[in-house]
Amino acid sequence: MTTRGYVVPAASAELIPHTFERRALRPHDVAFDVLFAGICHSDIHQARQEWGPSLFPMMPGHEIIGVVTAVGSDATKFRVGERIGVGVFVDSCRECEYCRDGLEQYCTAGMTPTYNGYERDGTTIAFGGYSNQFVVDEAYAVHVAESLDPAGAAPLLCAGITLYSPLRHWNVGPGSRVGIIGLGGLGHMGVQFAHAMGAHVTVFSHSASKEADARALGADSFVDTSSRAALRQHEQRYDVIVNSTSADIDLNPYLKLLALDGTLVIVGLSGVPVKIQQHLLLEARRSLGGSQIGGTKELQEMMDFCATHNITSQVEVIGAEQINEAWERTVASDVKYRFVIDASTF
Ligand code: NAP
Ligand code: ZN
Ligand code: ZN
Repeated sequence: MTTRGYVVPAASAELIPHTFERRALRPHDVAFDVLFAGICHSDIHQARQEWGPSLFPMMPGHEIIGVVTAVGSDATKFRVGERIGVGVFVDSCRECEYCRDGLEQYCTAGMTPTYNGYERDGTTIAFGGYSNQFVVDEAYAVHVAESLDPAGAAPLLCAGITLYSPLRHWNVGPGSRVGIIGLGGLGHMGVQFAHAMGAHVTVFSHSASKEADARALGADSFVDTSSRAALRQHEQRYDVIVNSTSADIDLNPYLKLLALDGTLVIVGLSGVPVKIQQHLLLEARRSLGGSQIGGTKELQEMMDFCATHNITSQVEVIGAEQINEAWERTVASDVKYRFVIDASTF
């Protein structure tokens, strides 16, 4: 299947157009026309090797929404014409206890990432969603309600699930006090989910101009983190705080904001090691946790939750020729709140 997309040809290089062949359908595969692909900050971290060595050429994109065009001989999950979504991984070992539990993101043999990794044959570089067509094993794709705007639904596949999963895992519900650090692609999904789950939500942002948006998304309060005095007023209040920033920030002031038994969950991945003041954990039995996207089972649950609560990402739709500029704007925190590429422009 001759496919058009954009690749990063070498570390830190600009993205350029690229044409290649997607694989022929295997029995359990589905093929789809991509409608929209979101731009996640992880695309940028990996293209710039901020997490270690990457594979090039790299075709990023792991927030992919499309319409099914063909199904393999043994594929039963999707019909031609149906909406489909693919997120951060496209395969896994399928045998370990986590895969069997639908927690493929924690596969002990390692998930197959949608890009910047090898497929399970160990030799083919996986190419992601910055492209006009996609082929995936049906087990690693989810259904997307027709009622959701497809551009706004694309970021649910990574930004959405990455915030939904920890909020569920740490039992956020009515009465919970939740803090979200960073109102970016991930953060603005976290605010909507925590609000829909009934929590009291505070946004901690280094962009004072985002306050009105934060409140419109469902935040009950907003703290401009450039003022340490403002942060101190929130000490010992929160049950769960999620750090969704892409930058190397000092987490210690946020540990102090946790109540007894509160948890600071790291989802933002600057790639820089963090230093923690140990007494801040001890003195209120606080925990530091981490969470990585979500498995296929939870991804479908989140998609259905979004359809029920009419939750999507706030997006700025761009054409393929604007990707490089959009990456720069993302790094500068100048995005409201996710760039999504119109795949018809590839
Ligand atoms: P994004 O849209 O660029 O948002 C990041 C936000 O971080 C910015 O909007 C900004 O929010 C804040 N920020 C940026 N620079 C900052 C600085 N110097 N000081 C303080 N705050 C700063 O990024 P994203 O796509 O949401 O991704 C966020 C992070 O999560 C990235 O590191 C990404 O790789 C990672 N990630 C992890 C997972 C996972 O599975 N755990 C999944 C996807 C992404 P304010 O302007 O509101 O301060
Ligand atoms: Zn992502
Ligand atoms: Zn596994």
